[in-house]
Amino acid sequence: MEISRRDFVKLFGGGTAGAAFLGVMDWDSLIEAALYDIPLRKKVGELTTICPYCAVGCGQIVATENGKVINIEGDPDHPINRGSLCSKGSAAYQIANNERRLNKIWYRAPYSQDWEEKSWDWAIPYIARKIKETRDNNWTEYQGTKLVNRTDAVAQLGGAPLDNEECYLLSKMARALGVVYLEHCARI
Ligand code: SF4
Repeated sequence: MEISRRDFVKLFGGGTAGAAFLGVMDWDSLIEAALYDIPLRKKVGELTTICPYCAVGCGQIVATENGKVINIEGDPDHPINRGSLCSKGSAAYQIANNERRLNKIWYRAPYSQDWEEKSWDWAIPYIARKIKETRDNNWTEYQGTKLVNRTDAVAQLGGAPLDNEECYLLSKMARALGVVYLEHCARI
């Protein structure tokens, strides 16, 4: 059902009929519709997630309909943010629905001016091979007489949506590769 602000005002003026209608609708949806002239919220699928931007890690509720994200808002049950979001977290909907978002892999070969579309099956082994080559070609075994076994040519940057277990595994992998420039977006 859709309702405009004009409809809402009429509804309030509708006496008994309006009161009966309000009895089956939720107040948030009605007030939102009245203020912003938008359709009333429908029953949709909801999932909880963590804001991808910074290390505060605010909880969000993602509403979906027919496989498409239709709303993202703060999770009032989340112990960190209790439903509030900063301006970046409030705009997270635009990450999911943005015509400028890249959703395919584009690759430009060295010295080429053209971009090619690639698959994940191609990209993941390619990236792994590049990391290995870069590491091996820039390996420092000794600094003076001290054994260091490291590479200064690779850096790893963590992301806020990673949980403890993912951070643990990724930092283990980076250290096993000899990476010493190991950072997190929250410290930059
Ligand atoms: S960017 Fe904002 S909403 Fe997202 S986790 Fe950080 S403080 Fe929370």
